[in-house]
Amino acid sequence: MIYSKVIIIGGGPAGSTCGWKLKQNGIECLILDKQEFPRTKLCAGWITPRVINDLKIDINDYPFSLAEFNKFHVHIYNKELIIKVRQYAVRRYEFDHWLLQRSGVNIYTHEVKHIKKDGDYYVIDDFYYCKYLVGAGGTFCPVYRTFFRDIHPRAKDLLVVTLEEEFPYDYFDANCHLWFLRNKLPGYSWYVPKNNGYLNVGIGGFAEKLKANNDNIKNQWQFFINELERLSLVKNHRFNAGGYVYYIRNRVDAVQKDSIYLIGDASGLATRDMGEGIGPAVKSGILAAEAISSGKPFSLGPVRKYSFSRYRTAAKLFVAYLINKRAGIE
Ligand SMILES: Cc1cc2nc3c(=O)[nH]c(=O)nc-3n(C[C@H](O)[C@H](O)[C@H](O)COP(=O)(O)OP(=O)(O)OC[C@H]3O[C@@H](n4cnc5c(N)ncnc54)[C@H](O)[C@@H]3O)c2cc1C
Repeated sequence: MIYSKVIIIGGGPAGSTCGWKLKQNGIECLILDKQEFPRTKLCAGWITPRVINDLKIDINDYPFSLAEFNKFHVHIYNKELIIKVRQYAVRRYEFDHWLLQRSGVNIYTHEVKHIKKDGDYYVIDDFYYCKYLVGAGGTFCPVYRTFFRDIHPRAKDLLVVTLEEEFPYDYFDANCHLWFLRNKLPGYSWYVPKNNGYLNVGIGGFAEKLKANNDNIKNQWQFFINELERLSLVKNHRFNAGGYVYYIRNRVDAVQKDSIYLIGDASGLATRDMGEGIGPAVKSGILAAEAISSGKPFSLGPVRKYSFSRYRTAAKLFVAYLINKRAGIE
């Protein structure tokens, strides 16, 4: 049997950040992940400066692709607005592996199947045991399934379905494009070029709303790739998209039960406006580590529910609309 004071299940941004912080605080921990890293994680890889800041990353030291955007091309219905921003995009294949290695925590490749409580300990698959357990296993996290499903039910109407593909592509448009409400998609679609010749394109929308419209994500994907072709953003590519689901942040925030903590997608934390999940995963990982280290209760209070201030975004959109109108880009 292997013992560690803390065991984190899942080595994505939530788990690796929690481990990194625990290690800094001198707390013994290990991470279990069912996949060997580097591993593919379906994700556009868009991150905000807040993530860079929370992770204390010096962008000059980051050894992989880090695209920086100072504007977004936002398409709403048939209007295109150019909005000034400062945002980044990484390739999750590289970023997650780098974060995990940087954490300095021991990692075991193991798919967690069963977890039980035995006195003051948690026993995982009769082999690993710990005093503190952290669930960072994403949407299908076994910690969520075993201990939180009843006290933290997920709302069906907050389930987002996605299809996306990241592939090497000699793109000619290095801008980031976002399309909202196109073809009645209850969500948005994206075109995110990465620095080292990779392109990420994808769509995400609320599952229940798609169903209510007698629509589905595959139809929407077909429409989207036709649009990419029509706009000459992607030409002559044989698409092979992958799908994944995750939850937008709910009202219910039960994320601690005895010495078990739930972080990242396992607790459904993606922001309500943009479905941004990396930032909330990182922040919740830091907060869980601080709670374990200090013995204070764990709360998601400081994890932002929205990526952008709604008032500032509305104002930016309005100003962008006026500028575009003046320049005749209506
Ligand atoms: C198509 C798509 C695009 C997205 N784009 C963005 C974006 O641009 N920006 C953004 O901020 N967010 C985006 N998100 C959301 C973001 O990807 C997630 O919110 C984020 O990855 C959550 O991190 P996490 O560490 O909680 O979970 P994950 O990154 O999912 O990591 C969970 C880890 O747990 C492991 N695991 C699962 N089950 C077990 C088990 N039984 N035993 C052991 N290990 C297990 C998995 O192998 C995985 O490595 C996107 C999501 C999707 C689906």
